[in-house]
Amino acid sequence: MRLVFLGAPGVGKGTQADRASVKFRICKISTGDLLRGAVRNKTSLGLEAKGHMDRGGLVPDSVVIGLVREKLNDSSSAAGFILDGFPRTVPQAEALASVLNERDEHLDCVVNFEVPREEIVKRLSGRRNCPKCQATYHVDFAPSKMGTACERCGEVLTQRSDDQRESIETRLRVYEEQTAPLIGFYEKQGLLSRLNGAESVDAVYHSLIRTLAAH
Ligand code: AMP
Repeated sequence: MRLVFLGAPGVGKGTQADRASVKFRICKISTGDLLRGAVRNKTSLGLEAKGHMDRGGLVPDSVVIGLVREKLNDSSSAAGFILDGFPRTVPQAEALASVLNERDEHLDCVVNFEVPREEIVKRLSGRRNCPKCQATYHVDFAPSKMGTACERCGEVLTQRSDDQRESIETRLRVYEEQTAPLIGFYEKQGLLSRLNGAESVDAVYHSLIRTLAAH
């Protein structure tokens, strides 16, 4: 199965992609995770991406497309994949179509997760991360049992620099301008399924499985 999970930052695509990738035994390719890894490891890609990410802007198409092309050529993607956070622009979607075309493959479904803006802001601004084991928490909805420390490894939790108020506003504006047009792009191709992402993680997951079973 070859899937794209689409939606604004904070709609829960990553969480659902984690669960669905285990269920369907396909890999999750998250460009956000790949870029954050490159920033942590201070690679040349990471150094180029960091400024864009901290400000809440997009990393240039050519950089992200190269990253995804590499991942899709990896044997771990042969059984299928879930793209989480890619494509984010029309040129990225066109590049994805041409990579798949070269391989005589196609997308099976594009799932658009829909969540009201106020809820997104609440989710992103309360999100906390473990810099050591990458576990994620939310101060209200999924707090760590150890307060401000990670309940898995004890490390002090941090807030992603792009989850600060100003960056959230920028990310949502960038989403509206550059990513939301992909909804129409995929709808025209008959690939789009819309999902209410404002419910609980379990409820959204069950709707997702029902939606994918219909494909
Ligand atoms: P995410 O974890 O998906 O919210 O991504 C975090 C940040 O990584 C974004 O705000 C962008 O700066 C960058 N990023 C992730 N995916 C892409 C993409 N497909 N195109 C451009 N920038 C991206």
